[in-house]
Amino acid sequence: MKKIGILGSTGSIGTQTLEIVRNNPDLQVTALAAGSNVSLMEKQIREFRPLLCVMWQESTANELRERTKDLPVKIESGMEGLLAMAQLPEMEVLVTAIVGMIGIRPTIAAIEAGKTIALANKETLVTAGHLIMPLAKKKKVPILPVDSEHSAIFQSMNGERHERVSRILLTASGGPFRGKKRQELSDITVEDALKHPNWSMGRKITVDSATLVNKGLEVIEAKWLFGVEPKDIQVIVHPQSIIHSMVEYEDGAVMAQLGLPDMKLPIQYALFYPDRRPMEGERVDFFKLASITFEKPDTDTFRGLALAYEAAGIGGSMPTVLNAANERAVSLFLDRKIRFLEIYDLIQGAMENHKPVQEPSVEQILEAEAQAYDYIDSRRA
Ligand code: NDP
Repeated sequence: MKKIGILGSTGSIGTQTLEIVRNNPDLQVTALAAGSNVSLMEKQIREFRPLLCVMWQESTANELRERTKDLPVKIESGMEGLLAMAQLPEMEVLVTAIVGMIGIRPTIAAIEAGKTIALANKETLVTAGHLIMPLAKKKKVPILPVDSEHSAIFQSMNGERHERVSRILLTASGGPFRGKKRQELSDITVEDALKHPNWSMGRKITVDSATLVNKGLEVIEAKWLFGVEPKDIQVIVHPQSIIHSMVEYEDGAVMAQLGLPDMKLPIQYALFYPDRRPMEGERVDFFKLASITFEKPDTDTFRGLALAYEAAGIGGSMPTVLNAANERAVSLFLDRKIRFLEIYDLIQGAMENHKPVQEPSVEQILEAEAQAYDYIDSRRA
C-alpha cells in the first residue's frame, strides 16, 4: 500500500490524482488540502477517508468540521495545517498540486521529513529550486515530475547518463493564440484565454499557456530538475501536443516520449515510478495523425517566454519576481481588471524594478514576492 497526500486535491491535478487512486486499490489517501472548495472536499473525505484534511481559511475548516463531524478525520487550517500535513508520519508521497508559491514551505517541510515529492507545483521550483534540489539530494528524497513535459524528459533520460545530455527540447502547444501578432491580442477576453486547444487545466495555468509564461516557467523548472542551463533548453512549438518533450544526447540521438494529451499518464507515472501501470484510454493512432509539425516560438509577440529566459539568466530572486508578478497580473486579468497584454507589461516592470539577490533564503524569496506585488499595486493605484 502506497500512502499519499495531495496538496490541492480539489483542483485539476488533484482530482485527476484521485481518479488514479480510484483505479489503483494499492494507493491510499492519508491527507488532503485545498483552498476553499468545501463541498468537494467533503465528498473527497467521504470517499477516500483521509486521516488529515487542511482548508486554507479557519472559517472554511470550521464549516468542514461541522459537515464531517460523523467522521474521525482531523481538520486543520492555514500554513500551520499545510506544514503539519507535509510532515504527516503516515504519508509517504506528497503530490504538490497546489497553485502558486504558497507551495514552497510545505514542499520544503515534506522533503525535510523524507517524503517523496510528486511535483506539479512548478512555481515552487521556479522560485526556490536552489533550496529544494540540494535539500532533496541531501535527504535522498526523489522529486518526480508531474508536469507532462518534465515527465517526458524524465522518461527520456531513463537509463541514460545525464552528463551525455546535450540539449533538452521542450515542446509547447503554442496555446490558443498561436500565429497571432501583438495587435491581434489587444482585445483578448478572459473566455478566449481560457480556451486551450489541447489540455484541460486550472484557470491560472491555462492563461499562462496562452501568454507562454507557462513555457518560460517550465524552462526554469527543467533547469532545476535536470541540471541543464537555460541556453541548452530549446522551446519548440508543436501544436498537436503528441511529443511531450525530447532529450538530445551528445551523439545526436534524440529520445522522446509520445502520447495523447492526458495528465493522468504523467501523474500515474510519478506515483508508481519506476513501474508502469496499465491505464485505460485512447492510444496514439499514427495512421490517423495527418501530420505533426514544429515551429519556432514567436517571442516578440509572446514576450512571457523571453522574460522568463531573461529571469533565468539573471537568477537569484529574479525568477521569483517574474513568477509573483505573473501570479498577480493573471489574477487581475481573470478579474477583468487589466488587458491580456498588460500581463507582460506588469511582469517586465516588476523585473526592472527589482535588485536581484543571489541564493535567496525562503524569507528573501517571500520578500521579493511581496515587492513584486507592491510594485503592481503601486502601478495600479
Ligand atoms: P487548479 O487551480 O485547478 O487547482 C489548484 C488547487 O490548489 C485547488 O485544489 C485549490 O483549492 C488549491 N489551493 C489554492 N490555494 C490554496 C491554499 N492557499 N491552500 C491550500 N490549497 C490551495 O490548478 P491546477 O491543478 O491546474 O494546477 C496546480 C499546479 O500544477 C500548478 O502549479 C500548475 O502550474 C501545475 N500544473 C498543472 C497542470 C494541469 O494540467 N492542470 C499541468 C502541469 C502542471 P480550491 O480550489 O479548493 O480553492
